[in-house]
Amino acid sequence: MEFALFCTRVNFLVFLLALSSPCKFIQSPMDFGPLKLLQATNSASLDFGRLYSNTPSAVLRPQSPEEISLLLSLLSASSFSKVTVAAKGAGHSINGQAQALNGIVIEMDSLPSSIKIHTSVDGEFGLSFADVSGGTLWVELLTETLKFGLTPRSWTDYLYLSIGGTLSNGGISGQTFKYGPQISNVIQLDVVTGSGELVTCSPSKSSDLFFAVLGGLGQFGIITSARILLQEAPHKVKWVRAFYDDFEDFIKDQELLVVSMRDKVDYVEGFIVLNEGSLHSSSLAFPASLSSIAPQLFPQGSTSHKHYYCLEFAIYDHSHKEAINLDQVVDEISRKMKFKPSLVHSVEVAYFDFLNRVNVEEVNLRRRNLWDVAHPWLNMFVPKTGISKFRDLMLQTISASPTFEGPILLYPILKDKMNAVFELTV
Ligand SMILES: Cc1cc2nc3c(=O)[nH]c(=O)nc-3n(C[C@H](O)[C@H](O)[C@H](O)COP(=O)(O)OP(=O)(O)OC[C@H]3O[C@@H](n4cnc5c(N)ncnc54)[C@H](O)[C@@H]3O)c2cc1C
Repeated sequence: MEFALFCTRVNFLVFLLALSSPCKFIQSPMDFGPLKLLQATNSASLDFGRLYSNTPSAVLRPQSPEEISLLLSLLSASSFSKVTVAAKGAGHSINGQAQALNGIVIEMDSLPSSIKIHTSVDGEFGLSFADVSGGTLWVELLTETLKFGLTPRSWTDYLYLSIGGTLSNGGISGQTFKYGPQISNVIQLDVVTGSGELVTCSPSKSSDLFFAVLGGLGQFGIITSARILLQEAPHKVKWVRAFYDDFEDFIKDQELLVVSMRDKVDYVEGFIVLNEGSLHSSSLAFPASLSSIAPQLFPQGSTSHKHYYCLEFAIYDHSHKEAINLDQVVDEISRKMKFKPSLVHSVEVAYFDFLNRVNVEEVNLRRRNLWDVAHPWLNMFVPKTGISKFRDLMLQTISASPTFEGPILLYPILKDKMNAVFELTV
C-alpha cells in the first residue's frame, strides 16, 4: 500500500548521514573502555519510514547522560572522530535520520525515564513546567502531567514520539497557530555536545547551543533532558468537523479561525477527503455517526469523483476557570463560517482521548498489518499565496496514481508563531 502524507506541517529536512569509514571500525567491545557497546539490532537499522535501512557498527543503550558524554568524548579525542553517531528516540523518522551506517546508534529509550513536575506554586517565575528525560515519550509526559491537572501546550498529532526526537525536528500540530511548535515551548535543555561536554542551556544561557539543538536534527548535541512549559489541562474538548466542496471557502475559514478567532479556538487542522473510503478511515477516532454526512458527500450510485475538504477545530473546556457553554461557542464561531449547516458534526471527548486520537488509527492499521509498511511521507510549508496552485499540483499527482491511499493534511500556521521564542519575563 502506498501511504503518503502531504501537509503544511513541518519542513523535515532530509538529513543525509555523513558516511564515515566504509569498513567496520570497532574491533572489540573493549575499544570503548568501560562503555558497553552492543551489536547492531534490527531496530537500530530501521525506522517508521521503512525506506532506508543502514546498519550501524554498534549500539549504545545508555543508563545515564554521563555514558553518552563518555562515548562522545572518547570519540572526539580519538582517531574515530569521524565516526557517525545518531541518537535514536522512538525511531519514527521517515528518511533514516536516526540511523548511522557503520557508526554508533545511541538508543535514548534506555535512559531511565524521569518526569519531574513543577507547579506554578513551586516552579520558577510562577510558571508550571516539567523536567523530562530525552528518551521519554510524549504520551508518558501527558499521562504524568494530567495527574497534576497540567498539560504541555503544543503537540504533535501522534504521541508515541520521544521528547528528544520531536524537539530535534519541530513538533507541529493543530495547536501551533496558538503556541508555536513544540520547540517554542521549551525553556531549558540538558545537552551532551559533540565533544562530550554536559551543558545546561536556555535562551539566556549558552543560547547558541540551545537554539542550534532545537530543530537541529541531532546534529548539534544530544538532548538528555528538556524543561517543558505546562498550563492547566482542560477537562474535555469539543471537537468539530465541517465539510466543504469549495477549496477557497475551506482555506478562508481556516484563516478566520487562526487569525480572528484565535482566543476562542484551541486547535485547527484540516484534511482532504478523496473518496468515501478516506472519509471512513479518517473518522475512526471521531466518535460520531457518519450516517447523515456520508450520503450527502457521496450519494449512493453516483459515479462522480468529487473530493471534499474537512476543516477540523476544537475548543477546550476550561470550566474550572470560567463557566463556558461549549455549544454556544461553537454556534457563535460557526455563524461566521461558510460551511453548509448540514455538513458539520461535533463530539465531546476527554482531553487525553482527543490528543491520543492517532493511536486509534494505529491500533486499526496494526490489526490490518498496515502499520509496519513503507511510509513515503512528505511534510512541507507552503506560503498562503501558493496554496491553491499547490493543491492543484497535489491533486493532479494523486489522481494519476490509482493506488493512492492515506491522509492528506492541510492546515494553517502563522509565521510569527514559528519564529517566536518563549521569553521568561523576570
Ligand atoms: C504516526 C506519526 C505521526 C506524526 N505526526 C507528527 C505531527 O503531527 N507533527 C510533527 O511535527 N511530527 C509528526 N511526526 C513526525 C515526528 O515528529 C518526527 O519523525 C520525530 O522525529 C519522531 O520522533 P522520534 O522520537 O521517533 O525521533 P527519531 O526518529 O528517533 O529521531 C528523529 C531525529 O531526532 C534525532 N534525535 C532523537 N532523539 C534525540 C535526542 N534525544 N537528542 C538529539 N537528537 C535526537 C535523531 O538523531 C533524528 O535526527 C509523526 C510521525 C509519525 C510516525
